Amino acid sequence: MNRYRVTPGSDLDLRSLDPADSAAFEGAKKEGRKLASNLNARLEILQEVLYAENRHKVLIVLQAMDTGGKDGTIRHVFDGTNPQGVTVASFKKPTTEEMAHDYLWRVHARTPKRGEITIFNRSHYEDVLVVRVHDLVPEEVWGRRYEHINQFEKRLADEGTTILKFFLHISKDEQKARLQDRLDIQEKNWKFAAGDLDERKLWDDYLDAYQDALERTSTEWAPWYVVPADRKWYRNLMISEVLVETLESLEMRYPDPEPGLDSIIIE
Ligand code: AMP
Ligand code: MG
Repeated sequence: MNRYRVTPGSDLDLRSLDPADSAAFEGAKKEGRKLASNLNARLEILQEVLYAENRHKVLIVLQAMDTGGKDGTIRHVFDGTNPQGVTVASFKKPTTEEMAHDYLWRVHARTPKRGEITIFNRSHYEDVLVVRVHDLVPEEVWGRRYEHINQFEKRLADEGTTILKFFLHISKDEQKARLQDRLDIQEKNWKFAAGDLDERKLWDDYLDAYQDALERTSTEWAPWYVVPADRKWYRNLMISEVLVETLESLEMRYPDPEPGLDSIIIE
């Protein structure tokens, strides 16, 4: 599970990491899928206990280049979990109201409450990614944000939030293929945004921005994982594994029943 974890304080070279890596499962996609299905069943139970126990809060951050697979990850990894305890927060271009506040305002408002898993589909990291790549604020301003973010996440962690952050790492070729699908396949047309082609031209700038962000904000309390994401099944498998292992480490349990349940007779 630590294979793809960005070690806090260490250097990261994103360009040296293979987006098509499938490590131990090379040529074993079938076994991989079976394991993923087992993990999914475990996740369903863990999520129910998390909800019932109403003690822990879990925050999952998903970041990726366009077409990186954030939506597919949410659909597959969380398949079968209870919508009552799982929330997705998607962060788009900030509204006028959001822009009138500091950049963490809208983010803090969507963080998980007790018993809940919240998935961030994009996040406060956009404020050191798209904002940096497009010079939306001066470097002096975004440059301070890594430290804010670490402190913000530390505060959440200190107050009982378990934080996991995943960068879905796709190759530029894979992005091309996925964008082409959005053009060619009618049911995917709605996902095509011409603006994504402009962003694609900035691929290297984004990669630099991601590299800095991941390097500077992978912490003991909120680690980043760089997940090879060219193969969707492998991406889902790796994320499920980190998630299940992390939730199991919380040693959650159902709350104690009221005393005397066994002597109650329902007329
Ligand atoms: P999508 O995820 O495809 O719906 O696109 C959402 C868009 O909102 C992306 O182009 C993001 O880069 C953009 N976005 C998200 N957060 C911010 C932000 N803080 N500042 C500017 N753009 C953002
Ligand atoms: Mg998009």
